[in-house]
Amino acid sequence: MTRTYISKIEPEKEIKISGWIERIRNSKNMIFIVLKDITGKIQVTIEKANNEDICNALEGIIANSVIEVTGVAHLSEYVKMGGIEMIPTSVQVLSSAEALPITEEANIDQKLDYRWIDLRSEKNTLMFQAQSCFTNAMRTFLVSQNFTEIHTPKIIGAASESGADVFELTYFDTKAYLAQSPQFYKQMAMASGFERIFECGPVFRAEKSYTNRHATEFTGFDIEFSYIESYEDVMNMEEDMIIAGLSAVKEKYGDKIKEVFDVDIVVPTKPFPRIKLQDLYSAIETKYGYTLPDSEKIDLTTEAEKLAGKYAMEEYGHEFIFVTDYPKDKRAFYHMRKDGVPQGYDLIWKGVEITTGAQREHRYDILKAQAEEKGLDKDVQFYLEFFKYGCPPHGGFGIGLDRITMLMLGVSSIKEAEFLFRGPNRLTP
Ligand code: ATP
Repeated sequence: MTRTYISKIEPEKEIKISGWIERIRNSKNMIFIVLKDITGKIQVTIEKANNEDICNALEGIIANSVIEVTGVAHLSEYVKMGGIEMIPTSVQVLSSAEALPITEEANIDQKLDYRWIDLRSEKNTLMFQAQSCFTNAMRTFLVSQNFTEIHTPKIIGAASESGADVFELTYFDTKAYLAQSPQFYKQMAMASGFERIFECGPVFRAEKSYTNRHATEFTGFDIEFSYIESYEDVMNMEEDMIIAGLSAVKEKYGDKIKEVFDVDIVVPTKPFPRIKLQDLYSAIETKYGYTLPDSEKIDLTTEAEKLAGKYAMEEYGHEFIFVTDYPKDKRAFYHMRKDGVPQGYDLIWKGVEITTGAQREHRYDILKAQAEEKGLDKDVQFYLEFFKYGCPPHGGFGIGLDRITMLMLGVSSIKEAEFLFRGPNRLTP
């Protein structure tokens, strides 16, 4: 007999269901089990008197064991759970569990030691269902816009971008590195004439950061596309993609997320507010009294990111804000510049950076000069070659998927939002 999902049970038919024992209560005459699968829960009711085999099978079995139950479900006005109960003709224990080593109250590091158990909670299951829904919607949107999904290598021969924050590894008798971003290969795809690509894959950062939003390995959702006129086109594309993602999550899980996480999924309106870095610093100084020496207003501090989120909400009633016009010293050499200003942005959501995006410099001579200016031209020689044999103007962005998940559901740390967190002190399980 094939297995029936609990949500698909029809009464008065012989069926087989399987799942986890959420609760088991053994009284004098009866055994009551709450059985849970990925679709729902049902009460399984066993009368001891006529079911010696079943009682023997369940001897010593505790919650979190996995069982298979064959029998018939009956409607019952006495059963609170869905008004239906399963009366088994046979029960088979598929896996018997020991008492759990962690409880709901354990701290996050204890929970991470036993992450597979921690992930069984309704909250965590919902988190990854929402993440999957978000990713799927972004994918569907991009494919509808003629994007091709690609997969670029994560073992690379030269440290990309800056060389800092990169994991080095032994590669036979030479050295290799773990990719800090798919940036160079996304752009190679533009030089290959793919026009529009995206990739969802691992990103490695050898940063000893102990913040709530940094991991040493995370999942990047990266987009690159050709024939843009300016980075405005890149921002527009990102707006549409995020709207597609959040609309899907709201539709499918909005109510459940409100119930479990007490968070409203808000589908943002277009256009998202945009502000230049220096204007933002002036605004948050005037509004919130946040000051910094001019020499430090060259990038967003963590506090300034937070206040940017507050400002976006108070000024525009919007959860998102694009920050543009960063100084060139703080941006990658491959960002196109206009009158010396990098043609790119960071996107802040709920006071945290989620994206860096830009129009890229596609003209070989200028790109080479910008790499030289940062002392990187030797390291990125192979990359510069991509632009020698024809390449359309292009741009793109990268979103951190784990950070998005954390912000979307209002959980306090990326440790909870990654399936398995990787940080300076965490390599297992
Ligand atoms: P930050 O300033 O927060 O360290 P970054 O400027 O290094 O980020 P980018 O290199 O622009 O980030 O990466 C693009 C996106 O990837 C970021 O906006 C963020 O969403 C995500 N991201 C970057 N670093 C990390 C990290 N260590 N852990 C998790 N996500 C990250």
